[in-house]
Amino acid sequence: MVEPSRELLAPGEVVDPYVTALAQFDAAADYLDLDESTRQYLRNNRRELLVRLPVRMSDGSISVFWGCRIQHSWARGPSKGGIRYHPSVSLDEVRALAMWMTWKCAVVNIPFGGAKGGVRVDHKKLSQRELESLTRRYAVAITPVIGPNADIPAPDVGTTPQTMAWFMDAYGGTQRRWSPEAVTGKPISVGGTVGREEATGAGIMYVVKEAARRNRLTPSETTVAIQGFGNAGQWSARLLKGLGFQVVAVSDTSGGIHNGHGLDIEAAIAQKLDSGRVTDHKNGDRVTNEELLTLPVDILVPAAFENQITTANASDIKAKIVAEAANGPTTPEADQILNDAGALVIPDVLASAGGVVVSYFEWAQNRSGVYWEKEEVDSRLDQIMTRAYGQVANVAEKEKLTMREAAIVLGIRRVVEATVLRGMRP
Ligand code: GLU
Repeated sequence: MVEPSRELLAPGEVVDPYVTALAQFDAAADYLDLDESTRQYLRNNRRELLVRLPVRMSDGSISVFWGCRIQHSWARGPSKGGIRYHPSVSLDEVRALAMWMTWKCAVVNIPFGGAKGGVRVDHKKLSQRELESLTRRYAVAITPVIGPNADIPAPDVGTTPQTMAWFMDAYGGTQRRWSPEAVTGKPISVGGTVGREEATGAGIMYVVKEAARRNRLTPSETTVAIQGFGNAGQWSARLLKGLGFQVVAVSDTSGGIHNGHGLDIEAAIAQKLDSGRVTDHKNGDRVTNEELLTLPVDILVPAAFENQITTANASDIKAKIVAEAANGPTTPEADQILNDAGALVIPDVLASAGGVVVSYFEWAQNRSGVYWEKEEVDSRLDQIMTRAYGQVANVAEKEKLTMREAAIVLGIRRVVEATVLRGMRP
């Protein structure tokens, strides 16, 4: 788990994402008046697999890495969720991410449950060969619990299409057959889909577009700041700019850049790909990550990690719309502050769902063997994201809930319906 710097936290403010995920669940379960059996059934992960991964390093030594795969729910279909490579991945973090995947898939109404995997590794310090060995070890280690009808991994922070290609190859080896449908987010040449690379950013674009339409914001007069410049941050910036929004600030772990007239996003992305640091792009003023969050912009897109918006900065946030591209970027206390200030928070389980929606398209294409054109991916993603936004907004309006409460309530309702129809086993 990436701890926010201490100054960002009030005394006693909890930053364990699993505590946040359970608190969100409990509040929704109370609101829905769920009976104790259903509550227990949905509150607990169905399976938690811990693995140790010995890898021969380039210098001949063996390093043993910690990993896990957590499956929260299979009620609506096979569980689905990414694999995170990060030096501070923790069990509780992956547990939270798995539960959020369940609500996310239910909110956008795709036929999956929720899961997540993690490997504790500083992937930036490993050679390609070491990363490949680690990925193959991990794939084989979790093979007993995954599969196209059981649990389907995908990329997350620290993993890429290349990681998924190695993963598919290793998994296929254990099955002795071509198995592209066992994992999504693959490169196009080995069964990936057009549109998956940009999918999380595209999902952000569709929900921001819908929020702007409903709030009568004109893109060319609307400013956006984006925290985090990995896959989700880069694509959100590029696609929002493409719609005419003024993207005035972006940041990565090296800090941020700000230009009130709008950044040259293509140049910033080129810089990031070249040197790994967006701050090497000189066409803007330097800001810190903390400063970026509180800039006077209309829309803020946290696209980095958990727990970035906390009680220490929430009251300084000026954006009227916060579109969560990261999972769990806002602590519950900070969420309350934003709501009280009248900000519209488009929650992670809705706003960041573009990736898994296009993963669903990829899985469907792999199963049918028929591959779609980009226009089809784009228009179906638009339809799913815009419809989900409308459904969440309806629940929020009718039941006087925040968008986050409404999304989780809607997600839980759908999971409960499937659980009850199937019958709680054994
Ligand atoms: N890691 C992404 C997420 O958090 C995508 C998961 C997937 O495609 O299964 O939503």
